[in-house]
Amino acid sequence: MAIKKLLAPLLIVALFCSPVFAWGSKEHMLLTRLAILRLLNDATTPADMKTWLKTLQPELGTVATQQAFFMKSRVGAASGSEKGISWWVVQPDARSGDKKTPVPPFEFAEQKLHFTDMENLNADVDKRAYKHDMSDAPDLNQVPRDIKDERWKEAGILPFAVENSYKELVKSIKAGRLSADDRKDEDNAVRWAAFLAHYTEDNTQPLHATEDYQCKRYFADRRGAPNVHSEMEYKMNDDEKNDYPKLRADYWKLLIKQLDTFKDPITTKDLWLATLQVSLESYKQIPLIGLAAMQASGQQGTPEKPTGRAGPIDTDKFFRYSSEVTGTHETVMQMKARQQAWAVVRVAEVWRRAWDEGKGK
Ligand SMILES: [Zn+2]
Repeated sequence: MAIKKLLAPLLIVALFCSPVFAWGSKEHMLLTRLAILRLLNDATTPADMKTWLKTLQPELGTVATQQAFFMKSRVGAASGSEKGISWWVVQPDARSGDKKTPVPPFEFAEQKLHFTDMENLNADVDKRAYKHDMSDAPDLNQVPRDIKDERWKEAGILPFAVENSYKELVKSIKAGRLSADDRKDEDNAVRWAAFLAHYTEDNTQPLHATEDYQCKRYFADRRGAPNVHSEMEYKMNDDEKNDYPKLRADYWKLLIKQLDTFKDPITTKDLWLATLQVSLESYKQIPLIGLAAMQASGQQGTPEKPTGRAGPIDTDKFFRYSSEVTGTHETVMQMKARQQAWAVVRVAEVWRRAWDEGKGK
C-alpha cells in the first residue's frame, strides 16, 4: 500500500514527461474543438454532418470561448471529468502508460501509435540518429509499407494509426453508430473521430518525428539537459506555476491568423503517405527548436559541439527566439502556431472525407 502510494505520483510525473504527450491534453482538446468550429463555420459542410458535429462537444461555444479556455484554464494530465469528445480525444495518451498490451489490429502497445521517428525509418542502419543538418532523414520512397518491417518497432507506427482510425470512423458512420452514450462503447463515430483527431494532431508536433524527442543532442550534458519536449508542448499554455499571459495572447493571435490563411501543402489522398509527409515536413522544424533551446538555456557551443552546462529553459526566450535556419525567418512561436493550425486544418479535412465516404457521397 505504502509503495503504491509512493508510486502513484511518480507514475503521473513519468506519464507527463513521456514523449507520448504531444501535444498536451489541453492542446488536444483545444485543437479538436477548433476543428469542430471550422467545419461548423464552413458553408460547404453537409447539414447532416453539422447536426452530428454539434453533438460532439457539449457547451462548445465559439472561437472566443476557446480563446478564454486557452488563456485561463489549467488542465494538466486530464482528470476524467471532461465532457464529450474532449474526454475521448485524450484517451490515446491516457492509455499510453500500458507499454505491453497490443492495441488491435496492431501488435504494438498504444504508446507506439503516437509518433514516427524519421531517422529510424532510414534504410541505412548507420543513419538512424538525429543530426542538426537533418542528413539522417529518410527517402520516403524507401519507407516500407509493411508493418512487419523491423524499422517500425523503433520508429513508431503513427501512419498506420491514422489510417486505421480513419477506416474505423468511416465504418461507424456507414453503420449509423454516431453517438457514444457509454464510455465503455469503443465502437462508434465519436470515439474514432477523437482517436483520428489525436493522431492527426500528434503528426504536426515536430518532436514526434525524431528519435531525439527531447533535443538532447543540442546539449553537452545530455543527462542534465532541460526537457525541450515539454517546453514545446505544454509549458507556455498549461504550466502549473505560470500563466504566461503575454506569451499566450501573442500566440493566440498567431494561431488565428494561421487558421485563416494556412493551406495544407499535402495533396495525396493516401493517408498513410500523407502522414509520413507531414512528419517529414514537421521534422524540418527541429533545428529551429534546438537552437532556441540552446539559446534560452544558456547552452554554449554549436549544435554540433555544445560545451559547458545549460540552465533551465527561459520559456519566454524560447518561444521568441527567431532564426532563418528552416529557410524562412520566423520565431518558434510562429512555427508552433503554423504547425498547430495545420493540425486543425487536417483534422477538419479527414473528418469531412470520412463523413462523405461513410455516407456514400
Ligand atoms: Zn499522443
